[in-house]
Amino acid sequence: MTFTQLHLAQPILRAIEEEGYTEPTPIQAEAIPAVLEGHDLMAAAQTGTGKTAAFTLPMLQKLFTHKREGKRKIRALVLTPTRELAAQVHASLKSYGRHVGIRSVEIYGGVNIYPQTKALRSGVDVVVATPGRLLDHLNQGHLDLSHVEMLVLDEADRMLDMGFIHDIKKIIAALPHKRQTLLFSATFSKEIKRLSATILHDPRLISVAADNTAAERIKQTVHPVDKAKKADLLSFLIGDRNWKQVLVFTRTKHGADKLSRRLSADGLPATSIHGNKTQAARMKALKAFKDGRVRVLVATDVAARGIDIDKLGQVVNFDLPEVAEDYVHRIGRTGRAGNAGEACSLVCIDERHLLQRIEKLTGARIEKVLVEGYHPDPSIKPEPVKARGGRRRQNFGSHKPRGRGGFARRS
Ligand code: AMP
Repeated sequence: MTFTQLHLAQPILRAIEEEGYTEPTPIQAEAIPAVLEGHDLMAAAQTGTGKTAAFTLPMLQKLFTHKREGKRKIRALVLTPTRELAAQVHASLKSYGRHVGIRSVEIYGGVNIYPQTKALRSGVDVVVATPGRLLDHLNQGHLDLSHVEMLVLDEADRMLDMGFIHDIKKIIAALPHKRQTLLFSATFSKEIKRLSATILHDPRLISVAADNTAAERIKQTVHPVDKAKKADLLSFLIGDRNWKQVLVFTRTKHGADKLSRRLSADGLPATSIHGNKTQAARMKALKAFKDGRVRVLVATDVAARGIDIDKLGQVVNFDLPEVAEDYVHRIGRTGRAGNAGEACSLVCIDERHLLQRIEKLTGARIEKVLVEGYHPDPSIKPEPVKARGGRRRQNFGSHKPRGRGGFARRS
């Protein structure tokens, strides 16, 4: 299958070629024709599968081939759970649409609202937004969604986890009833199915075996180690394995800062990215990492959502996540678009139950490799992992959406 066979317009094909893509990924091959035919879509797809192009390419095609006269009106709306993902999707849209003459804007909180208002006033075809800030604009009368032809909910499961359901419903109420709706989600909980039933019309169901293929492509290892030795072990591994670019996950913001300071002190240039940092600081840290000026980026789950680093070879779970699905999201940062990747987890005795949850979710046992000099001390007894404040889900398998307390607002 080639992109030409998908009947995309020349300016779009040119951009795809310039991106260096030679053939559509499985989700693109399935989704693009379905969207072009006008179907609603319910797609099970993780980041790393090429899902962004799966909806932005046919969106651009439709906007391009059915141009409207007069002042630009918002014709497509993409909702994402986090600002990073909104920025990422918007960057992809601009890149794939660079020869098409489509105007778009990214809308999210944590930054000055004025430039967004200005862009909206000047007229755009596509808005990529997080729900909270979009609703602020809507309430203030900065935008008119009554001409939207296509709505995309990207990472819908995340949006529900983060308590955005009411915002989403309010936004949908401002859209025309007759529209095309595409829903992308890594998991299909009861809540997602309930939402789909109310907003999708006779959807095409698309499921690429993303979790498994991604997980299979990524070499996963667990290094059992005592909690107090984790930082030493990480420092050792980065040097010993000569990892050039490594994304490290911690459970807490404080933990991310502390670890990044420690690695820097060991001579391994590191920086951190988490929800307490301003958007500008997060972007700066990400850029330094992408440019290779820092070797280690230490991140919390929320901050890392949607981060797309081409050819990232190594992910490390310094702490295991409390929510097993986060593990799949974390390791999905590597092994993207067919590249090989490695993910290792430093697991102390307190985290054994978290590891079991992950293995239950992925349906596979992860190889355990002891590192010489860092064997766990068998006399250490497990202690409960401290629950974090503001966490959205404490229990594995429970998908109850939370209110807007703290967590959701950060996006
Ligand atoms: P996504 O799942 O949308 O986050 O995309 C993951 C990565 O795959 C991004 O770095 C894209 O640039 C890349 N990508 C998307 N489509 C293709 C394709 N057809 N061929 C090669 N790389 C792709």
